[in-house]
Amino acid sequence: MELKIKNLSKTYSNGVHALKGITLNIPQGMFGLLGPNGAGKSSLMRTLATLQQADSGSATLDDLDILKDKAEVRKILGYLPQEFGVYPKVSSYNMLDHIASLKGISNKGERKELVASLLNKTNLWDVRNKSLGTYSGGMKQRFGIAQALIGDPKLIIVDEPTAGLDPAERNRFHNLLCEIGENTIVILSTHIVEDISNLCNNMAIICLGEVVAKGIPNELTEGVKGRIWTKAIEKDELAHYKTDLQVISTHLKAGKTVIHVLSDNKPDASFEAFAANLEDVYFAEITSRMNSTLV
Ligand code: ADP
Repeated sequence: MELKIKNLSKTYSNGVHALKGITLNIPQGMFGLLGPNGAGKSSLMRTLATLQQADSGSATLDDLDILKDKAEVRKILGYLPQEFGVYPKVSSYNMLDHIASLKGISNKGERKELVASLLNKTNLWDVRNKSLGTYSGGMKQRFGIAQALIGDPKLIIVDEPTAGLDPAERNRFHNLLCEIGENTIVILSTHIVEDISNLCNNMAIICLGEVVAKGIPNELTEGVKGRIWTKAIEKDELAHYKTDLQVISTHLKAGKTVIHVLSDNKPDASFEAFAANLEDVYFAEITSRMNSTLV
């Protein structure tokens, strides 16, 4: 199974060119789509989820034309949108039962079995009769995954799923996604680099509507290996370093500003080599394109 996206473009009626010829091949497993806010991630996710039209380009899942056969796509799609509202007074059990019947599972016994298995998988069985309004952020997200899994989807899209989750909830959510990713295509859209490096075997970075890097996370990291240099500086020296060097990121550490610089050679003796990670790849790709507004 492979999702092939070719030259997908979208301009909104206000003139924003949100997708500029996106081309990606997405195999089975967890695929990370990384990009800053406004990169076009949600626009791409909504298009694949048949919720909005593209202007041009194609997207196919094996023989299925995602942009045309919308009804067929919805049968094999699980979607967890960025903004996920729940009916606060309904229990997760009743809500899942209701969605399952909307999705065409009319046999009561079959539905009961399915809902129980989803609640167990997402670790919500013990709280199945509590109303959704009382759930924590992590529980709501896990409920979101449970509803997205109804109908045994082949393509699962999760848009910015870990925003607002505490570390333990995030961890639990990641484990759940990994399990699901074994048999389906899961596209995880996020601006959190760590989510991708922990979870995804394939990824793409998008920025200003374009794919700026794609591949296996470790291989992308190899690409900047030996070219990342670090130094702790005073905050007011930053502007000076930015004029001479390609400063890709800044972090605060014990009151000092630590900069990462992308350079083929050591900028000067005061810099130290840094073992590059995916965050360096990400910042190296996006800062040059966004005029350093993010660092
Ligand atoms: P991301 O999910 O990466 O933050 P989006 O796809 O939401 O990016 O947004 C990409 C660009 O398209 C942004 O400039 C955003 O303001 C714009 N945009 C998104 N949705 C709409 C819309 N419905 N109408 C007009 N502009 C939009």
